[in-house]
Amino acid sequence: MQVRDKLYLNGAWVAPHGKGTIDVHAAATEEVIARIPEGDAEDAAVAVGAARAAFERWSATAPAERAAVLAKIQEGMKARGDEIGRTIAQEVGMPVKLATKIQAGSPTFTFGMYAKLLGDFKWEEKVGNSIVMREAVGVVACITPWNYPLHQIAAKVAPALAAGCTVVLKPSEVAPLNAFILAEIIDSVGLPKGVFNLVTGYGPIVGEALAKHPGVDMVSFTGSTRAGRRVSELAAQTVKRVALELGGKSASVVLEDADLAAAVKGTLSACFLNSGQTCSAHTRLLVPESRYAEAAKLAAEEAQKYTVGDPFAETTKLGPLVSAQQRERVRGYIRKGVEEGAELLVGGPDAPEGLGKGHFVKPTVFGKVGPRATIAQEEIFGPVLSIIAYKDEDDAVRIANDTPYGLAGGVWSRDEAHALAVAKRLRTGQVDINGGPFNMFAPFGGFKQSGHGRELGRYGLEEFLEFKSVQLKPEPKPA
Ligand code: NAD
Repeated sequence: MQVRDKLYLNGAWVAPHGKGTIDVHAAATEEVIARIPEGDAEDAAVAVGAARAAFERWSATAPAERAAVLAKIQEGMKARGDEIGRTIAQEVGMPVKLATKIQAGSPTFTFGMYAKLLGDFKWEEKVGNSIVMREAVGVVACITPWNYPLHQIAAKVAPALAAGCTVVLKPSEVAPLNAFILAEIIDSVGLPKGVFNLVTGYGPIVGEALAKHPGVDMVSFTGSTRAGRRVSELAAQTVKRVALELGGKSASVVLEDADLAAAVKGTLSACFLNSGQTCSAHTRLLVPESRYAEAAKLAAEEAQKYTVGDPFAETTKLGPLVSAQQRERVRGYIRKGVEEGAELLVGGPDAPEGLGKGHFVKPTVFGKVGPRATIAQEEIFGPVLSIIAYKDEDDAVRIANDTPYGLAGGVWSRDEAHALAVAKRLRTGQVDINGGPFNMFAPFGGFKQSGHGRELGRYGLEEFLEFKSVQLKPEPKPA
């Protein structure tokens, strides 16, 4: 078993003030695989003090110097890519090949992307008699979840460091081992002490201490809407900047003229990725009434191709959920779907055959789901798709927009212009047309209760910057 008993504070691995420990479980076996420190408010305060002290120097470095550090971190991550993939496959449960590609590959790419973006970022411009400058916002607390743990860390830490901010990272206590690897890599590249700090622990203790701390200028939070709301309340006391990336209940809208087989296949894939534990998962499939029967048949067939099993087995397409708590929550939603009268097309609340141990849930598809049903409104965070039939296009748009969330969505049509027109009517931060792939250079974030602020690309860098206007006295006009 791996034992981590130190936090990364002020450029060194040090024993925490908090004396507790937290067990980390393997998603597929439920075994305890590691133990990490349960940091406390005192540890958070030490980290903030270190970040505060480091800020003035780090924010004054040349962008090229910061770019060089980010590029070195990328190199370090590349070198440990397989280890990161295996670690996340174990703690989160995503099949290892996919985990290595997505869970290790994407954060590695992110560090390199910000190294490059620093090269042509415009730090100031002239507006009349003013110079408008962009400056680092200050000390940033990054609070992150477990589902794409290192991707979400990188989407905050890389642009924050690029901007010239100093950072305190509080990773998820459920899947924290990848964050220790990143801290080791950062330690090895010679970042000045205090620029990056790692404090592990529970959200209500370490997370809240950071959100409240007067030495923190900004909290960048990804996680549940419940915790995001709490972070906002606490941060408001010291008028911190807050960026929130929260939950979603995204709709995949299949228009009358779409290639239905491609739309169903693409939607299921966008729903079941990472066993449905994806904030932007397309969990509602909206189809015209006339094509409902065909869509239901295709979805049931497709879902059965998702072989559930050990994330380290070659044949596995769908790994376990991250925790026992998450498994029970998802099974509860499946029961609720049945109770509320939706048609269970495939899957169900019982353990998949032969997988009594581990956090496994059957890939599940519900048909004839009412747009206001619990499973059509609440984020389930498991491999559960709800098919909803709509009357006409206005009805489809109304249903798609009728949840408290607004993170993502999809539109399927053979006519791209038509799909684009519908995409414009969706109140969400991103829309994929005919399965258009994820773009790391485009802004990612939500409308409505999916949060505010944007991550990734140039937009993600701008989140960590302030504006400063400096007015010059105009030259007196020649007489
Ligand atoms: P969570 O809200 O329980 O935890 C997220 C982080 O917040 C963890 O580090 C946790 O320790 C911390 N936290 C918990 N309570 C806190 C509090 N009171 N104060 C401060 N910090 C606190 O969420 P989770 O279960 O780890 O992740 C799942 C949720 O995250 C889902 O709702 C999902 O949709 C959302 N999510 C959103 C995005 C996005 O970009 N929009 C990405 C991934 C996950």
